[in-house]
Amino acid sequence: MIKYKKQETNLNAYENIFENEFEACALPNDERVCEDKVTAIEQYRDKNVLICGLGVSGMGAYNALKRLNANVYIYATDFSTISNDKNVVFVKKLTTKIVQDMDLIILSPTTRLAKKFSKIIAERQIECIGELEFGYRLCAAPVVAVTGTNGKTTTVTLIHEMIATTYNSFALGNIGKSFSQKAMELTPVDRAVLECSSFQLAQTKFFRPHIAALLNLAPDHLDFHKDIEEYYSAKLKIFNNMNKTDFAVINFDDNSCFEHTKNILPQIYYFSTKQPCKGVFVQDETIMFSDGIIAYAIVRLEKLNYVGEHNLSNMLCAACVAILAGVSVENVAAVLSNFHTPPHRLEFVRRLQNVDYYNDSKATNIESCLTACNAINKPLNLLLGGSDKGEKFSVLAQRLPSNVKSIYLFGKMQKKIYHALKKRHDIQVFRCETLSSATKFAMLKAKSGEVVLLSPACASFDDFKNYEERGNFFKHIVNDLQ
Ligand code: ADP
Repeated sequence: MIKYKKQETNLNAYENIFENEFEACALPNDERVCEDKVTAIEQYRDKNVLICGLGVSGMGAYNALKRLNANVYIYATDFSTISNDKNVVFVKKLTTKIVQDMDLIILSPTTRLAKKFSKIIAERQIECIGELEFGYRLCAAPVVAVTGTNGKTTTVTLIHEMIATTYNSFALGNIGKSFSQKAMELTPVDRAVLECSSFQLAQTKFFRPHIAALLNLAPDHLDFHKDIEEYYSAKLKIFNNMNKTDFAVINFDDNSCFEHTKNILPQIYYFSTKQPCKGVFVQDETIMFSDGIIAYAIVRLEKLNYVGEHNLSNMLCAACVAILAGVSVENVAAVLSNFHTPPHRLEFVRRLQNVDYYNDSKATNIESCLTACNAINKPLNLLLGGSDKGEKFSVLAQRLPSNVKSIYLFGKMQKKIYHALKKRHDIQVFRCETLSSATKFAMLKAKSGEVVLLSPACASFDDFKNYEERGNFFKHIVNDLQ
């Protein structure tokens, strides 16, 4: 078994600084961190490590372990990206004999080992961790982590841009860049800004960010998690190892977030679009930061460019995290003023015959679809459908706002959604087989002054590789419309 020593030293150096100056992370070239890191890194030499899954995180773990001189075993279905590597053992069928020889098992986010291996893993005390935890054990830089059901990528991008004004910042994790692949190169003067999914957090053990933000909690991924409590517990693991020298940044407007974090150890700051709080909030059309005693103005709302209150909420969260991380109010304001949401998130595509087209392909759950419908204050022609994630469409049917006038269903889930929508007599519902036919039909039906919105509330895997391919496909059709 590989022994992991907790990197307490990551954080000791800036204990107590924060009380007086906003320099919580503005730190220290702490050599002890580097020593710990070398000890940690040396431990992997000649150890047997099994990686399960070979996506972005599996590849990242593979690249890191090669540099650590470990004996790498990979269990996956497709080895084509590394098939020339003679020093790796490719495992097509996992057996007890292989598992029992391992010192460490690294799981990719959505992989779980079959139950039949539990006994041998327990008997031999083989550690099973996720790639986020593995990366953390290799990382000497302070970690800022963001989780929540929706808005992670948008907020991580903002935080990264803000921190990059002051430090070497690296946006990693669920945003699409493996943390463990980069982690070893990071030093205490760098900053790792991590997007953390519930899958990744579920497989952590000692993971301890110095600042962690929770954006919101809503049902999602119920095809993977047993129930909603298991899903929320996984998200909340982000705070498990944090203590009072760390900072939690919590959505004050989301009751679930507020209730579930009442008893966590780190110092809590909040963000709210609705009311003043200790943290970042809006007052008199101005974004403010309060340390609980004095409030400072950050930037006037009129300087910002965003669609929907949810994006304002993401901005407030990012501002709070960045200020706690030691970024100046001026730099926070400058990033907020220049920010545009990433593609596929309520992205304006074009205006044709006075109809606006928006691509929100990343809305892969009911909550994000409802958020988009509420953010657009015009009559809506909504494109819905895709593959199942275990959510209840009766909830969507009940909560769809009255500006949704027609819905065009496509993909695998259309029958289920169609039945759920039967009670909504105020909405016209059309079944259209494909995204292409749905878009073209919506274009024919939409009247001047209305909006056509792709906000599917489903995953994309029925007809597309991922949400990006689906969004690009939609944009392509829309841009071809005449
Ligand atoms: P994530 O990385 O958590 O999936 P993204 O920033 O990629 O989040 O956005 C995913 C979807 O959620 C998009 O449709 C976006 O418009 C919507 N969204 C973004 N921020 C929020 C929020 N704070 N609350 C609800 N929906 C949001």
